Amino acid sequence: MFPWQTSIWQNLTKSQENKRLAHGLLFHGAVGIGKKAFAIEFAHWLMCEQPLLDKACGECKSCQLIKAESNPDFINISPEEEGKAIKVDQIRELIEKLSFTSHGKGYRVIIISPADALNINASNSLLKTLEEPPANTILILITDKPSKLMATIRSRTQMIRFELPDVEQSMQWLREQNIEKSDLVLKLSAGAPLAAITMTEDGGLEIRDKLFNNWQELARGNVDALESASMWIKDGFKIKANLPLNWVSSWILDMIRILQGGHVDSMVNVDYAQTLQNLAGQVDLKSIYNLLDRLNDTIRLSDTPANQLMLIEGLLLHWAGLKRS
Ligand SMILES: [Zn+2]
Repeated sequence: MFPWQTSIWQNLTKSQENKRLAHGLLFHGAVGIGKKAFAIEFAHWLMCEQPLLDKACGECKSCQLIKAESNPDFINISPEEEGKAIKVDQIRELIEKLSFTSHGKGYRVIIISPADALNINASNSLLKTLEEPPANTILILITDKPSKLMATIRSRTQMIRFELPDVEQSMQWLREQNIEKSDLVLKLSAGAPLAAITMTEDGGLEIRDKLFNNWQELARGNVDALESASMWIKDGFKIKANLPLNWVSSWILDMIRILQGGHVDSMVNVDYAQTLQNLAGQVDLKSIYNLLDRLNDTIRLSDTPANQLMLIEGLLLHWAGLKRS
């Protein structure tokens, strides 16, 4: 487990030892803080025949099967296609599997992630299992958007909140992973250390520079917004979906901070401080707020891939066309 998760680990393992662990657990909290990794480790611990205090033994039959990725008592359910729904057929199949007794001596654990991807039929179909799961069966649901789950699902689970680690702890951990510019990437990742790692792994910082340069050139009228939009889709969106739009959001919010008289220290994009100050100095607060509305619409609608190019074109045209002094 990650160093910021020890207290949750202790609470859950203690509940289990006291036979008070709920059959349905809902892990929720920000993206990029290791909820799923924790769930997998905890699942292994639950299934292990001779678990240690802080981990599975790694040697018993259950642990061996897990290593070989062939433990039938460990079931992962995710959307068949990334970003799509978890379908009712997947839940029906799960229920059928659960109607047979477990294979090992320990627990059977089902991880459903992201649980907010359960569509209505799948959710309804899962309710009864959550209410009366078969013996020695634990369901772990994971989400960063608990409000998107059906209330009846939430009420049948014990909600476990994963907090953002504090900055010091994250920074120390990132340094141990040899992450360069750890303070910057942590800020850009809203304090989520695993998201910070993902950003550096995918060449995110270089792509961010490229997009930000383009963003500046658009303001200067040096590049075409429609051509730029194609580049954003081709180079920007190949990394994690929506990351570039979250960056734009942070640029706009930094400009708003400056226009409202905020200090440079309050900015997220400390490495772009000078340029963002210049850009903010050319526009008024009202038009920046309009741009922010436009961006938020873009983020909301960008789940539909067919529209992506058009949405980015619209956003970049809006930014390029702002009245500047
Ligand atoms: Zn074991």
